[in-house]
Parts: sequence; C-alpha cells; structure tokens
Amino acid sequence: MSCGQIDLKGYLLGEISHEDRRAVEAHAAACAACREELERLRLTQGLLKSLAEEEIPQRIAFVSDKVLAPGWWARLWQSGPRLGFAAAALLAAAILVHALVRPPVIVEPPAPDQAAIEAIVERELARRLDDAVARAAAVWEAREAERRAQLLRQVREEFEMRRREERAQIEQAFEVLHKRLNVMHLASAWRAEER
Ligand SMILES: [Zn+2]
Repeated sequence: MSCGQIDLKGYLLGEISHEDRRAVEAHAAACAACREELERLRLTQGLLKSLAEEEIPQRIAFVSDKVLAPGWWARLWQSGPRLGFAAAALLAAAILVHALVRPPVIVEPPAPDQAAIEAIVERELARRLDDAVARAAAVWEAREAERRAQLLRQVREEFEMRRREERAQIEQAFEVLHKRLNVMHLASAWRAEER
C-alpha cells in the first residue's frame, strides 16, 4: 500500500474496515511521513473535540447554519470530498483564533495562510514536547531531592551514633574517676584512723 492509498482520516474516525485498519497500522509503522501526518491529524481532531459542542466559532461565518448544528465540527471533518489536512488545520486555526480572541470582534480577520497554520500546529507539538521534558525534569529533580534527603539522614544518623558513643565513653571515664576518688577518700580515712 502506498501513502496515497491509505485513509488516515477514516482510520482516525473509525470508519474503515478492520482489514483496512490493520493495513494503515502496518503502513504507518513503516512510513515516518504517514506517522507524522497521523499525529498531526490526531492533534487537529483533538483541538476540534476540545471545543464545547455548542460553542460555534463566530469567525467561520462562511460555513452555513445547517453545518453549525450540534456536531458541526464532526460533520465538517467528515464532509466529502474529505477535508485535506490543510483544510482541517485551517478550520482548527479559525477556531483557535476565535478561542483566543474574546470577546468576539466584528471585523472579519484575513484568512490564515497555511504557513501560519503549520506554525500553530508546530507550536502545539513543541509545547507538548516541552511539557514532556518538563515532567521528566520534575521527576528527576524529585528523585535527586529524595537522594539528598536520604544522604542527610544518613549523615545525621552517623553523627547521632558517634555522639552516643562519645557520651558513653565520657560516662565511663567519669565512673572510673569517681571510683578513684572513693578509693582516695577511703585511703585518707584509714590514714586518719591510724593516727
Ligand atoms: Zn506513507
């Protein structure tokens, strides 16, 4: 199966047969370009789905009212001939622009060009990567902090143990001194009696 033959969007929407799904998966496993395209489509679909069902972007006024009924994005996504990635991304960008600029502005914005859309998608992908890196760094830092805390505990325990040992030694020394003093005291008492 070549890149042109596989239906990535049908795959994402669960519209294709079990055998076709297997074929898409096998192809995507071997083809980096299609894997990337699939990831982009997933991202675009995710952006579309993340919007509330009733929240209709006012800025894509070129879309008819009929389309803007509940599930408008699903219908757009599935409308035949199927939207290409660029069209889906354009829609996502229009929605993003709408979501970012509130309250809604009456002036129609110029249609975003494809490079700008690609930039938005790239930025989103980069943000996800940054998030993943930040999470990994946080895990590492937490582990490092735990390791340092454990080291500190060890040092404290060792110090405490040594302190106890020294204390025992001092007590022992005092006991010896005390006994010697007793002996000296007894000795002087005997000497006094002898006189
Ligand atoms: Zn391919």
